[in-house]
Amino acid sequence: MTEPIYNRVALIGLGLIASSMAHAMCANGLAGEIVGHAQSAETRATALEIGICDRVCGTAAEAVMGADLVVLAVPVGVMGDVAAMIGPHLKPGATVTDVGSVKQAVIDAVSPHIPKAVHFIPGHPMAGTEYSGPRSGFATLFQNRWWLLTPLPDTDAEALVKLRSLLEAMGANVDTMDAPHHDLVLAVVSHTPHLIAYTMVGVADDLRRVSNSEVIKYSATGFRDFTRIAASDPTMWRDVFLSNKEATLDILGRFTEELFALQRAIRLGDGAHLHDYFTRTRAIRRGIIEAGQDTAAPDFGRGAPPATKA
Ligand code: NAP
Repeated sequence: MTEPIYNRVALIGLGLIASSMAHAMCANGLAGEIVGHAQSAETRATALEIGICDRVCGTAAEAVMGADLVVLAVPVGVMGDVAAMIGPHLKPGATVTDVGSVKQAVIDAVSPHIPKAVHFIPGHPMAGTEYSGPRSGFATLFQNRWWLLTPLPDTDAEALVKLRSLLEAMGANVDTMDAPHHDLVLAVVSHTPHLIAYTMVGVADDLRRVSNSEVIKYSATGFRDFTRIAASDPTMWRDVFLSNKEATLDILGRFTEELFALQRAIRLGDGAHLHDYFTRTRAIRRGIIEAGQDTAAPDFGRGAPPATKA
């Protein structure tokens, strides 16, 4: 056990990411006290029942009072509303961070509500599952995963070092970049792939010639991995696309061009084009495994899934 890095941490939103942070902080003694708030009484009661918070509060304003670190772990679309509610109650010298999957839209929505004496350091853990809610979190979610921080030009260096040390103590690898770059990178590695998975599962659902039972029965092919991604939280992903519009549309445009090129190669019987393309993409998969961001196991090393939200 180490000394707590922050005396009091307030988690606003108590879903997958916040509960995983709570488990990781508890496991390593990183916070003196964890105070939580979520919008529903049911989630607040669950958080107390499973012990991820020392205290829960009925309002976000109450939860942040006296907190040294405030983590906004709510859907991207409500970050601004939550920031407006907590702004006047933040302790001078405190740090506010968020875990939203999009950065520029969150900065635009949250920054105006953060007092001058409070440090706002936007962030995004690149770790997750298709499960939601307080019961879905686990202490090792961030282990060896990237946690991107997008500091603002006037971010306090000391506050940044302290936040970074918390994230590293939870097992994450921390990197910094500016928000527009973050949003473009994420459009490539996460947002557009999710949209494609949603589309593929939607297409399968629409395909009347194949019965639903056959889609399920023969799913242990590429389709099964699409369905896992397409089972991700609808609120979170609606907000991601609405708030990372330009970068996602840019990458989707490029995707469509490549798809047409592959379609043409299939029509023309251009096997060399297909083989070269698939050789290039296979090398990317190898690179991901070598970088320790996945395993070569056929089940991707995922093992048994955690329990879902009731
Ligand atoms: P989640 O499991 O669905 O949890 C969201 C939490 O936010 C719930 O506790 C919910 O409360 C609460 N909430 C929603 N609106 C609220 C409001 N107005 N005031 C207070 N609490 C509110 O979501 P999550 O997966 O942890 O995602 C949280 C954030 O992390 C999102 O911004 C997402 O973009 C980001 N993120 C997610 C992943 C991922 O894979 N899931 C990965 C990286 C980053 P109730 O339960 O009471 O509704």
